[in-house]
Amino acid sequence: MRGLMMNQPLLITELIRYAARCHADTEIVTKTVEGPIHRYDYAAAYTRIQQLAHALRELGVRPGDRLATMAWNGHRHFELYYAISGIGAICHTVNPRLFPPQIEYILNHAEDKFVFVDLTFVPLLEQLAPKLKAVKGYVVLTDAAHMPASKLSNLLCYEELIRDKPSTYAWPTFDEWTASSLCYTSGTTGNPKGVLYSHRSTVLHTFSVNQADSLAFTPRDSILPVVPLFHVNAWGIPYAATMAGAKLVFPGPHLDPASLYQLIETEQVTMTAGVPTIWLKLLEYLDQTGKRFTSLKRLLSGGSAVPISMIAAFEEKHDTRVCHAWGMTEISPVGTKGTFKAAQAKLPPAERYQYQATQGRPIFGVDLKIVDAEGRELPHDGKSFGNLLVRGPFVTSGYFNDPEATKAAFDKDGWFRTGDVVTIDPDGWVRIVDRTKDLIKSGGEWISSIDLENAAVGHPDVMEAAAIAVPHPKWQERPLLVVVAKPGAKLTREEMLRYLSDKVAKWSVPDDVVFVPELPHTATGKLLKSKLREQFRDYQLQSA
Ligand code: AMP
Repeated sequence: MRGLMMNQPLLITELIRYAARCHADTEIVTKTVEGPIHRYDYAAAYTRIQQLAHALRELGVRPGDRLATMAWNGHRHFELYYAISGIGAICHTVNPRLFPPQIEYILNHAEDKFVFVDLTFVPLLEQLAPKLKAVKGYVVLTDAAHMPASKLSNLLCYEELIRDKPSTYAWPTFDEWTASSLCYTSGTTGNPKGVLYSHRSTVLHTFSVNQADSLAFTPRDSILPVVPLFHVNAWGIPYAATMAGAKLVFPGPHLDPASLYQLIETEQVTMTAGVPTIWLKLLEYLDQTGKRFTSLKRLLSGGSAVPISMIAAFEEKHDTRVCHAWGMTEISPVGTKGTFKAAQAKLPPAERYQYQATQGRPIFGVDLKIVDAEGRELPHDGKSFGNLLVRGPFVTSGYFNDPEATKAAFDKDGWFRTGDVVTIDPDGWVRIVDRTKDLIKSGGEWISSIDLENAAVGHPDVMEAAAIAVPHPKWQERPLLVVVAKPGAKLTREEMLRYLSDKVAKWSVPDDVVFVPELPHTATGKLLKSKLREQFRDYQLQSA
């Protein structure tokens, strides 16, 4: 027997309609590319979103068309998220930090019809334009006064495009399985792969991340996503904040610690989100300047592992709780979040930090299993480690127009292979041991590069550290620690090894330490260990 409830599809437009109706005067603040602060509210944003929807239809955009964005976190990018998917087209956020040949591949593979671009990235597009096969025009996210002189053909101005358009739009109703947005994930090898989200998956993910033990946004929050709107939908924040009616604060391109600190204070931000490298730099800035937060209570960190030293410093010096989350482009992206059960909440800080440093517990809708090399399931005992597989209503079921990548990504029962090696304890806490390819295989033991890095960053003179495997005649592989010391620090190899000697198991203490001015990162801010392994392929360990 079927239930007797209304058949109303889960559509993204409902999120912004709700915010405009129930949180009309809640602010959305942007530090713009052009410089000044832009300020409006959900009601005004919704009006412009409807004007943009008219403009898109007048440009000839049809349901199912892909439209690319290359833009910072700002109000116009936010408007594009809603207007594009609202008319049944697909908002394809492109990461401008990728290498130009990857961007060219992505724009051609997605067959984007238009590119909506911030002033910053116009020169990059000028370089790529002759090779872009499907693009019919470029819309610069600015007003007439700031339009650049550019040789891009069919160059349009965003503010001119939406000006004078009707302020209401009769949104179409369609199947909730309709594609809404597209984001390419860039591994360290092979072509980027497209993850195609649907209205249904996005709304379900939004419900899930807004639970009390997940991101838990409220109308009392002021939220600053440092995590870019051009990567994994900024962890779903533009949707989740809207569903909650929370204030949004967009930093634009101004991501240096001083600018972030200033914006956090002036907009009384209560919660911010981004990768650990941003927070380590912010911490350094606070230490140097002696500045303190007056409003920031929660700091969400994800994308890479979080060192305990960072968790402790934010909590003890700044009264800011570091919340750790793990996710992937393929999971929409939030998979786990570190929120305590009753027993852990009572622990003394040092023991509590151990839990906060894990990747957290699965949020509702994310089913996890760990398997060994033969695909046999392993127990959730906190000790057994193996490959993490995941399934759920907001996990991808295949890559966009890429049957080969799709085939490799799933097991025979349809679970998605994450590529992460983890343990899961009986309470559900997930601890990432490593990416499969980053584990250091020393004799019969596997050494977690993440554990070594987290321990190394605890040293007061270390800015950043990466542990990689280098070949060893006896042990097959041994760890080499590559360190960026803080400016002016006089850190030595011996001091680093002494520091680590009581922080990690004896057999996993690195054989050697080298100091470098900086480490290579991917376009999403993760350590690019494949490049480091290549760089140190012939390195002679002092111990070997
Ligand atoms: P992406 O799809 O670019 O977001 O990358 C997803 C990958 O980032 C995951 O498979 C993990 O290897 C890594 N990752 C994400 N969050 C974390 C985290 N909190 N700790 C460690 N690694 C993480």
